[in-house]
Amino acid sequence: MKKNNMPLEFVKEVKATLQEKKNLEGELKYTQKDGRETWFQESIMPILDDDGKKIGEVIVRYDITEKKKFEKMSITDPLTELYNRRYFNKVLTREIKRSQRDQTHLALLMIDVDYFKKYNDSYGHKAGDNVLIAIANSLKNSSKRASDFVFRLGGEEFAILFNIENETKAFAFAELVRKNIQALQIPHSNSKISKYITISIGLLVVDFKNEMVDENGFYTMADDALYQAKAAGRNQVIMHENEELDFF
Ligand code: GH3
Ligand code: MG
Ligand code: MG
Repeated sequence: MKKNNMPLEFVKEVKATLQEKKNLEGELKYTQKDGRETWFQESIMPILDDDGKKIGEVIVRYDITEKKKFEKMSITDPLTELYNRRYFNKVLTREIKRSQRDQTHLALLMIDVDYFKKYNDSYGHKAGDNVLIAIANSLKNSSKRASDFVFRLGGEEFAILFNIENETKAFAFAELVRKNIQALQIPHSNSKISKYITISIGLLVVDFKNEMVDENGFYTMADDALYQAKAAGRNQVIMHENEELDFF
C-alpha cells in the first residue's frame, strides 16, 4: 500500500482498520512547509486484552527518506529529470502486460532531435544541454494524463509511452508533441529543414485485443517508424503500419 499526501483518507483507513483490530502498514509522505519531503514506513498494530478487546495500539515508524531518494535517483535522468532508460525497460514490460490483460491500446513515441550534432557545433555543448532540458519540459507539459510516461532514452533521444483509445487519437497526440517543440522557436541556424529546433517521431500503436507484441517488437517497430520519419525529411510523425497479410 502506498500513501501519497492523503492524510484524511489515511486517517479514515487507520480508524477502520483499527476497529477491525487488524495491522496496518504503509508508506507515508510528509511535505514540510519549505517543500522538503520526508518519507516514513509506518506500522500500526492493535493491542488486545485477553478477551480480544482493543485496549490500545503500537505505532512503529521508520524514516525511509534516504531509501526513497535513492529509488528516485536510480530511475531518473540527471540532466532532464525525466525517467531514464532503465526505467523505460521496466515500465514497457509492465505496461505491455497490463494492456494485454485489459485488452487496450498501448502506444509508443520514439523521438529524436533533428540535426542536433549541428546544433552543438554551432552553439556549444552547454547550449545543447539547455535545449535538451527545454525539450524535456515541453514533452512533460504535452503529456497530461496520469498514464503518460516520458523518458530520456539517452543522448538526444526521448520516448513517450501511453494508453490511448485508437490510432487516430495517438497520431493527433504525436503531432501535438511535435508542434509544441517547434513552437518553442529555439533558433537553429544550421538545421537543413527549419529555422528552429525540430524533432522527428516514430509512432507505434498496438491494439492488444487483436495483436500480441513483446518488448523487443514494440521498441523495434517504433524505432523503424522513427527511421522512416528521418528518411522522409525529418520534423514529422510517421506511424508504423501493420503489414497486410496476403492470403492465397
Ligand atoms: P539527425 O537529424 O539524423 O538525428 O542528426 P543528429 O545530428 O541529431 O544525430 P547524430 O546521431 O548524428 O548526433 C546526435 C548528437 O547529439 C551528437 C551529440 O553531440 C549530441 N548529444 C548527445 N547527447 C548529448 C548531451 O547530453 N548533451 C548535448 N549537448 N549533446 C548531446
Ligand atoms: Mg539520435
Ligand atoms: Mg538526432
